[in-house]
Amino acid sequence: MSADLLPFLPDDIFKIVFEKSPGSLLVKGDAPRFTIVAVSDTYLDVTSSTREAIVGKGFFEAFPEDKTLSDDTNARVIFTRVVNTRQKIDVPAYRFDVFNPDTKTHIKRHWSCCNTPIFDNEGSVTYILNTVVDITEEVRAREASTENENRLLLATEAAAMATWDLGLLDNSFVCSPRLAEIFGFSADTTVVRENLQTQIDADDMKNIVVPAYHKALLTGTYVYEVKIHLPDDSLRWIKTQGIVVYDDKKQPVRMLGTVIDITDTKRDEIRKNDFIAMASHELKTPLTSIKAYIQILAKRLIPLNDSFVNTTLMKAGNQVTKMTDLIHSFLDLSRLESGKLQMKLVEFDMNELVEETIAETQLLSPGHPIEFEPGRQLFVKADAEKIGQVIGNLLSNALKYSDKDSTITVTCTSENNNVKVLVTDKGIGINAKDQEKLFQRFYRVESDKMKNISGFGIGLYLSSEIIQRHKGTIGVQSEEGRGATFYFTLPAATGI
Ligand code: ADP
Repeated sequence: MSADLLPFLPDDIFKIVFEKSPGSLLVKGDAPRFTIVAVSDTYLDVTSSTREAIVGKGFFEAFPEDKTLSDDTNARVIFTRVVNTRQKIDVPAYRFDVFNPDTKTHIKRHWSCCNTPIFDNEGSVTYILNTVVDITEEVRAREASTENENRLLLATEAAAMATWDLGLLDNSFVCSPRLAEIFGFSADTTVVRENLQTQIDADDMKNIVVPAYHKALLTGTYVYEVKIHLPDDSLRWIKTQGIVVYDDKKQPVRMLGTVIDITDTKRDEIRKNDFIAMASHELKTPLTSIKAYIQILAKRLIPLNDSFVNTTLMKAGNQVTKMTDLIHSFLDLSRLESGKLQMKLVEFDMNELVEETIAETQLLSPGHPIEFEPGRQLFVKADAEKIGQVIGNLLSNALKYSDKDSTITVTCTSENNNVKVLVTDKGIGINAKDQEKLFQRFYRVESDKMKNISGFGIGLYLSSEIIQRHKGTIGVQSEEGRGATFYFTLPAATGI
């Protein structure tokens, strides 16, 4: 403040400023009394006192000592230390509850204060300026955040889950002690990300982790299941799930996530797959014999022209074909899960395969109209048997989920260097929510209409895996109650 302004200011300007300042108290350095000299309005509010009642009194006479304050934050200790050390002393946080005269209760409050010595000419502390700031909201926010962290920690510990945080710019890596345990070390071992990565199965690293990482940078979510080798040579499975954090410029800066040990679940799954594979294999042999016996019977009996016998033989044959298809699906499922599903690629015209598959399917459901107009040749290089299986599955679903007299239309076209096959029915259709999940393993729509239609929910899953392995796409367009169009595309073998 410039000196020439002073004459325009009221004489007691400093007193006014002091009294209007937030939370200030001036006491004399006359230890142990510490006489109160001046006090601000806010300080009076907080302590529920009046200026007349406390100015001139010793601090501890006005405010009897609060025994709940610890020694370090006790006013007598602090004031005495300011006088003795002649240093400013801060108390970063302490609790002092404010009395509410209306409710006659104390309200929990947290404060921070600063005790500044004011010296006389000889350098002794004549006054102590005590300035107080209300930090209740900050303390509450801090407590809430600690509580959240503790809750999260408890939840992750209860789920035996490890957490990790990867800095994408500086490659920093922070993880919870559980991660070391999952990788076969004691919880207090400091683990390095690069070392952990060497424990991941080499094939899984190349085929699963690296693609998942690149996909995460695009989609924002990171998820994979891989095998890891522990230092004692045992093999375990882990599942990692995470999210990508982006900066203001939408650049990925961090990845955070969790890791859990899924070995037990995986072993159960493997046992289940082995069981399905074994059971399917055992069923195949008697079924092949039944099929052969039906064929022998047909050879002998068809010439007799007994229409009842012929129809019954045809129906028995169809049922055996359905069962054989089902068993093949189960075998494919277990081969797929154990990575043993082989593809034999040959070049063929899609129109031909569609026609053949329609003919085979129609045998199983005679009378249900299927329309197909073969167009010009459309070549693909693919596993004809497996693609036939996909078409057969889409067709048998179309038959299964629509009325017997409604027409099913099959179309085969070319689109952007791809061959596209579409199977359209006028059946029960699928709502948007279920459409997202149809291609998952064992997924079946749950509705009244589905109650009497049997199935295992593996046809579309297998179809989608087969198409993906051919670098194609598969999808559905449908509305509930208004039929469905299932389609797939495969890269064309020659320019079309
Ligand atoms: P499944 O038919 O043996 O149950 P899929 O994997 O072939 O198994 O099909 C999964 C589910 O998708 C079916 O249970 C059914 O709910 C639904 N779905 C498949 N095709 C159709 C269709 N054409 N119309 C209506 N729903 C269908």
